[in-house]
Amino acid sequence: MSRGLLAVIDLGSFTLLGLGLGFVVLWIIDRSRVHALLFAAMILLCFASNWVLSLSVDVAFSSSIHGILLPSGFVLLADGLLRQSDQRLGIVIATAFVVVLAAGVWYFAYVAPMVAGRIITQNLGVGILLLLTAARVWTACRRRPSDLLIVVATLVLSTTLFVNVVLALLSDLPRDLTTDAAIDQFAETPVAVGITIMSALILPMAMAAFLAAIALDMVADLRFERDRDELTGLLNRRGFTERADVTLRKATYAALILADLDFFKDVNDELGHAGGDLALKTFAELLGSAPDIDQVAGRVGGEEFAVLAPNAGSSEAFVFAESVRTQLAATTISYGGASTSLTASFGVATAAPPTSLAELMDAADRALYEAKAMGRNCTALHRQR
Ligand code: GH3
Ligand code: MG
Ligand code: MG
Repeated sequence: MSRGLLAVIDLGSFTLLGLGLGFVVLWIIDRSRVHALLFAAMILLCFASNWVLSLSVDVAFSSSIHGILLPSGFVLLADGLLRQSDQRLGIVIATAFVVVLAAGVWYFAYVAPMVAGRIITQNLGVGILLLLTAARVWTACRRRPSDLLIVVATLVLSTTLFVNVVLALLSDLPRDLTTDAAIDQFAETPVAVGITIMSALILPMAMAAFLAAIALDMVADLRFERDRDELTGLLNRRGFTERADVTLRKATYAALILADLDFFKDVNDELGHAGGDLALKTFAELLGSAPDIDQVAGRVGGEEFAVLAPNAGSSEAFVFAESVRTQLAATTISYGGASTSLTASFGVATAAPPTSLAELMDAADRALYEAKAMGRNCTALHRQR
């Protein structure tokens, strides 16, 4: 192969090594992302398989080793891509794939030496593996931006490999790469250019897309944790404010329901702090199972909860609050051998934007104060002044 082509392949290889380092760093940051490590290992195998081809040893021998290393690398890649959507390639399929491809390459290296046979076997095999992987990821994924990135990059990879198969069929290839003249002839063929573009450009770009996909997932997971209340699984105050603000701006009118558990200090005294936690979880579940209402629900304080219901009027919000209230009052919380009943007070306010969330919260808070003053275990509506 010409020096120019080799230089481009080396550039691609070193870009891949840099990306490999990126995958290792992501794995060190979050050890649960095993696929990052699989991608790094895939890059090492690709690097090793290219390096083997550049050795001045018997071409049949180096091709056969390349024929084991390359499919092994792509098996790791496929498994890593599937893991991103909680799937696995499976050891049987992975082994069978490597064995079949390695045997094909070995056949075209020793039994019927033919460079075209080796190129077609590898490009077709890996292309099919990646196409099936993209299809499996697409059917199982949650359509996150990272999933789309993975599917598109995998499809581009497999398409390039299929193009290489076609180019190999159209190229005037030497029978094998045993002489310098044959290598020079090969370097001039369209398929040699196709392979170079694949390893120097398409593969590094696809691996960069996979790196970006992992980074996107990590940021999304961190955002989710940042906005979530660990105890109840509802949004925390920060998450609620952000989500409710956006929802309120899109709504034509909205209701806000604030709830505060009554005499919660006593619940803690009777059941202990862990029992109090159980009561908080129970209340959060009741919010989720209440009448069908579009809602953004959050735990906005220790034992205070907020529900924004977009496009709900005061009567729907009142029915919702009353339904949760009566269900809670009928529930007994038991913990550590002790039991207690529990009630909550509700304040409801309604408004049409441009009312801000802060104003709506303030109005609902005043209604809640009234509910407490009326003796608790009731729902008060904020009266427009
Ligand atoms: P009121 O009817 O007036 O609302 O009475 P209260 O006892 O509920 O009022 P207060 O706001 O004074 O007390 C709230 C209590 O909630 C105090 C605190 O110990 C408890 N609390 C806050 N966060 C948690 C939590 O995460 N777990 C538990 N178990 N208790 C909590
Ligand atoms: Mg309170
Ligand atoms: Mg309270």
